[in-house]
Amino acid sequence: MKDLFGFIDDLYDKADVSDNALSDILTDSYVLKESDQRSLSFSDVDTYLFKSADKKRREVYDTDVYARGLIEISNRCKNNCLYCGIRRGSPVYRYSLSQDEIMDCVRSGHEMGFRTFVLQGGENPGSDRMITELIRRIKSEFPDSAVTLSLGEKTKKIYEEFKQAGADRYLLRHETADKMHYEKLHPDEMSYDNRINCLWTLKELGYQVGAGFMVGSPYQTTGNLISDLRFLKELSPDMVGIGPFIPQHDTPFSGEKAGSLLTTLRCLALIRLMLPHALIPATTALWTIHPKGRDAGLKAGANVIMPNLTPSYARELYNLYDNKKNVKDEAGIRLAGISAKISESGYRLSMDRGDVIRK
Ligand code: SAM
Repeated sequence: MKDLFGFIDDLYDKADVSDNALSDILTDSYVLKESDQRSLSFSDVDTYLFKSADKKRREVYDTDVYARGLIEISNRCKNNCLYCGIRRGSPVYRYSLSQDEIMDCVRSGHEMGFRTFVLQGGENPGSDRMITELIRRIKSEFPDSAVTLSLGEKTKKIYEEFKQAGADRYLLRHETADKMHYEKLHPDEMSYDNRINCLWTLKELGYQVGAGFMVGSPYQTTGNLISDLRFLKELSPDMVGIGPFIPQHDTPFSGEKAGSLLTTLRCLALIRLMLPHALIPATTALWTIHPKGRDAGLKAGANVIMPNLTPSYARELYNLYDNKKNVKDEAGIRLAGISAKISESGYRLSMDRGDVIRK
């Protein structure tokens, strides 16, 4: 029987390994002691896994870490996902940024150097026409910039309209690749099949597509995580967003445990090794559960960061989970600090569009 180091070498060489090997890596019993938690010292196997993932990302993307300007355009949502702080049933005050407010965020982000803008929000079919116009405005004022949408499930016709207006990329986390697990995280009115079909439709329409999932969501098993990795391998998305589940006080999952940093880092590294071309953010959620989470994510294979350009009044209302980082700071001030930290870790902050590189 091969040891874990051998499995990691196989993954590095062949971008694949058996389900049993994935399971052994994900469940390796080494647990971070409390002192290790703070300093983030990992076992020899995890250190080897993260180093291998980092080596792979350097083969494709060198040391570049791409910056995307995130704009949380609205917290209005028709869905009632059991984990999410902006679910329909949440008592949060609802806002939608106007087109002009969003254009102001894009303009100031462009001045700071951003060349990708991610428009994210709750699922709100009433705003589709406004979004189409907005995409046109952004692309005509800033033709050098990419527009990424993260606005949930739409019809093929709407995805087509957004694409024709100039949208380049679409992020739609599949959340879990197991239908029964999906049904435990979502109300009956939501459909696993529809979410998965949306991802294939987006691919067919020529978007650069992002999928992804939460690590440690309620009821998740190691088998579910393996299904997630298998689904990603099959879909071969250009971007993969994963982060730990974090409970939010107004949701039915308020009393659940947050996902673990170590398992999230292991998943990140496995994704880098299985999909070497992927653009993978070191997410805010990772940073929220550990002060060194973002840095650890970059060292385990992530190569994207998403500083927040949303006006601070709105950011506070886009409360997907508790204690979300970055709710108050100004993006410009943070960018200088982030750039310095990234250099200290041995990477280079890139403000380029940063499209996917498939070799
Ligand atoms: N409405 C769009 C959609 O459905 O894709 C985009 C916005 S949605 C709020 C963005 C992502 O936030 C979700 O895909 C989910 O994975 C993540 N998220 C929501 N609640 C979370 C929580 N409690 N902990 C961690 N991530 C969460």
